[in-house]
Amino acid sequence: MPLTFRKQPSGGRGEYELVGETGGVSAIDLMDHGFLWDTPFGQKETEVALSNQGGKRRLRITQSGVPHIQRQAAALGLLPKSIREEAKVTHGQPIVLENGYILDVQVSLVSTDDSMAVVRPAIFTARSGPANDDAHKLDMDAQQRFARLQAVWEQAEVLPEAVGLAVLAHRQRVIDDTTIGTAAEKAVHTVIAALAEVGAPGYIPGADPLPALEVLAGLSGGIELPPPTEAPEDLPEIRIRIESEYRLAKARGASHEQFKKAVQKAYDFRCAFCGMRALDIPGLARAGVDAAHILPWGQYDLDVVQNGILLCKRDHWAFDAHVLLLRHEGGAYSVELNPRYAGLITDQETLAALGQATGPIPEDRLPTKAADRPGPSYIEKLYEGLEDY
Ligand SMILES: [Zn+2]
Repeated sequence: MPLTFRKQPSGGRGEYELVGETGGVSAIDLMDHGFLWDTPFGQKETEVALSNQGGKRRLRITQSGVPHIQRQAAALGLLPKSIREEAKVTHGQPIVLENGYILDVQVSLVSTDDSMAVVRPAIFTARSGPANDDAHKLDMDAQQRFARLQAVWEQAEVLPEAVGLAVLAHRQRVIDDTTIGTAAEKAVHTVIAALAEVGAPGYIPGADPLPALEVLAGLSGGIELPPPTEAPEDLPEIRIRIESEYRLAKARGASHEQFKKAVQKAYDFRCAFCGMRALDIPGLARAGVDAAHILPWGQYDLDVVQNGILLCKRDHWAFDAHVLLLRHEGGAYSVELNPRYAGLITDQETLAALGQATGPIPEDRLPTKAADRPGPSYIEKLYEGLEDY
């Protein structure tokens, strides 16, 4: 077994142990050693040492107030806080859920001397079930995760403000702190809370924040736009989510409400086709424009901003009926009266009304963030197979 900090598979008290070996060095050889994390953000003191206590090898925390090894690892990798009690794991999906999963950390040995071993996180193994239950286990490449995290930092300015600030506060902790402790853990929690607060599309509060951040940051590297997979027709309530851990059945309501709010905000309450803005009457909900799905939710169930567009009632109808077609070419969006219907509409006033919506969509009617604009692949999929479109 590779060198691994793991929770003892049995036993309720939740002791962590170091097991396995790497490059001919075994856990036993590291007796009476302290550990340093080797990370892309510098070396970090763990303040954890392996020592012999009453004939037992124990991982001991040498400075009060420092969280144990697996919590430090989670905070480094922007993972939610893990737990040590087998009885409290969620036994469910998503596997990574704040205060509901156990985290083991496989490491490689960078260097060692008489008293200190420098270890580099290799694999984070999260589990929400017993150690032998592979269905509730998730391996994450630690170095890859650090790289994804750094990519999100680069894009922090395109994140919703509260989320961006929280992400940068966490960045500061993992870069500046010499020991990754409770301040870094709190920073992770703040990111999680901010994502839940802004209603990040598809984000389950308490789950791994990284995939949701990547979606919000418009990063195509790690996570791309969710594929337009068709939901099973006989089970419209089954949602299909970005990552395997999100593939769970859930009631539609909350997600749709988040979708609506996110689309309204991205388009600043204006119809993208004609520019009509939702009325803002004190005491009344803003009405008159709809958060429309590009790929119909009945078939695809894709509640992400990129699959949405804000439209007034008229243009929503015309878009759904394919009377008005949304076009995307060379980064620009435009609206076209479907040539198939154009010749059939003889009423000049109707033509003039629909004509208000046609032509290039001005920049200021589109979401400021490029990542929030209609996904070209979704538009393509929508008209795929429809003749003359
Ligand atoms: Zn309109």
